Amino acid sequence: MVLLSISLAVAAVPEALPALITIALAFGSSRLAKKNVLIRKLPAVETLGAVNYICSDKTGTLTLNKMSVFQTIDNQEFKDHDVNLLFMSMALNNDAIKSKDGYIGDPTETALAQHLFISMGSGHYEDFRAKYIRIAEIPFDSTRKAMTTIHSYDNRYLIITKGAAENIFNLLSDAENNTKWLDTVSAWSSKGQRVLLFAYKFLDSLPADLNSENIEKNLKLCGLVSMIDPPREEVKKAIEECRSAGIVPVMITGDHLGTAVAIAKDIGIWHKDSISLSGPELKKMDKEIFRNCVERVSVYARVSPEQKLDIVAALQSKNLFVSMTGDGVNDAPALKKANIGIAMGITGTDVSKEAADMILLDDNFATIVKAVKEGRRIYDNIRKFVKYILTCNGAEIWTILLAPLIGLPMPLLPIHILWINLVTDGLPGISLASEKAEPDIMNRPPRAAGESLFAEGIGIHILWVGLFMAGITLFTQAWAIGKSVEHWQTMVFTVLAFSQLGHVLSIRSERTFLYQQGIFTNLPLISAVLLTVILQLLVIYLPLANEIFDTKPLTIKELLVCIVLSSLVFHAVECEKWFKRKKELKYLNSINHTLS
Ligand code: ADP
Ligand code: MG
Repeated sequence: MVLLSISLAVAAVPEALPALITIALAFGSSRLAKKNVLIRKLPAVETLGAVNYICSDKTGTLTLNKMSVFQTIDNQEFKDHDVNLLFMSMALNNDAIKSKDGYIGDPTETALAQHLFISMGSGHYEDFRAKYIRIAEIPFDSTRKAMTTIHSYDNRYLIITKGAAENIFNLLSDAENNTKWLDTVSAWSSKGQRVLLFAYKFLDSLPADLNSENIEKNLKLCGLVSMIDPPREEVKKAIEECRSAGIVPVMITGDHLGTAVAIAKDIGIWHKDSISLSGPELKKMDKEIFRNCVERVSVYARVSPEQKLDIVAALQSKNLFVSMTGDGVNDAPALKKANIGIAMGITGTDVSKEAADMILLDDNFATIVKAVKEGRRIYDNIRKFVKYILTCNGAEIWTILLAPLIGLPMPLLPIHILWINLVTDGLPGISLASEKAEPDIMNRPPRAAGESLFAEGIGIHILWVGLFMAGITLFTQAWAIGKSVEHWQTMVFTVLAFSQLGHVLSIRSERTFLYQQGIFTNLPLISAVLLTVILQLLVIYLPLANEIFDTKPLTIKELLVCIVLSSLVFHAVECEKWFKRKKELKYLNSINHTLS
């Protein structure tokens, strides 16, 4: 009885499981590292597979963040010293520095400096900056979406502000005279261009406190500059892949709504039911109404980083699995709240990286999609080996439990079960983690959040295959005892061990037969199976092992009987696939029928 209960306990505990899951996740994260994804939190590897909304920054992630000036208009009211004030402002309100290979700094600003170089020739950027010394500045921030610099100009002060069109417009002293400029802004934006407005004023004396409220008001329009930031090439394909995988891509940007929608249309984020929302609209909107339409929003424009948090919360309230990208310090709360927070490796701040679950080393949207694919594969593989290991443990339990009930002696010793659990289950189990992605992996919807690991008939598989395996094992025992084979226990042990190897070969794919999939498409697995066979043969034939395991050498005939009996499991599981495919086909046909 003691022996029986120890054996049962050993059989029931899947000893290798925690190690296997950790190893699978670690393998996954090292494979992801080769694809430019750095995993900061190991469980994220598995969560990735369940993502159904990818909220992505536009600039730099969907686009290249390589700006170039496309067209400019200057207001031409200002005439002094024969300078073009718009060109001068481009040089003065700018932090780009010249290096031997062009300008370096913020891409928006290097584009302005470069434009000056192209239209006026070299040296002007530096000359302007040397002539009108910068006294103070109010740096750009993504809430104000503007930047101001203050320069000494003869005996006065010149204030220059540049920034997002709507924001600068609100700072003008005579905005109503300038509404025609707004039409230009919308026309350019709707073509996907990024429009910057420049404004200026002169002051005789400066206020004591140089902050944006004191300085950024009563400005005059100085000109418009539009820039082009081309989309990344790989992004269109990645977005198509998202669609077929049931994942919704969403663009979030500080840019103008028109610009954002134009680019969203170009790269395929926009679809026929899409709606767009701007930050100010979102701010005014009732929370409940927002929650009801959040699933349809494809573009958020002019949002402040804080609003990303509201977007994540609304999507999550719909039971969706959200990944969110971010690079700024203010993005950190949204990255923390998202199911998968993604920071940018190149442009990201340390704070955002700290808050994220993973880091994109190349800042590229297409890399997120690759990571999701990898996440799905890892989840699939974890499911496969949970299915595998629990089936094997089930078979051990049934064998030990049923033997006394049908009048057979104890079939196995605890050490046999331990060997099967750790070696014959463990080695092939680990190599299931290197199974390749199933062909349909990006053509099916994401698994539902909170879906059980035992969904899709896994529970039934564990039950019936476990019972079947135990049945074959007990049949071997009864047959061998009936034939008065002296070493029946070694045969029972071997049949159970080999059955599991047959099982692991078949379980590699849910639907594809092994002969279609190819035996050598998972080399670690086939090596693990061969190694396990050798180890098992050693246990049977090595005298020292015979002592430890209480086994006896089998004759060739007995060994062949064991191999034939244990291969039955493999064939049974292949038949299960056949039934599954037939059932699915029948279902599809029935739908077709109703359709026609
Ligand atoms: P994105 O989501 O595209 O990265 P940002 O928050 O960086 O948006 O920028 C939002 C808006 O702020 C831009 O559309 C542009 O009008 C303006 N802007 C961007 N960079 C600067 C800058 N260096 N100086 C002034 N305004 C800027
Ligand atoms: Mg930006």
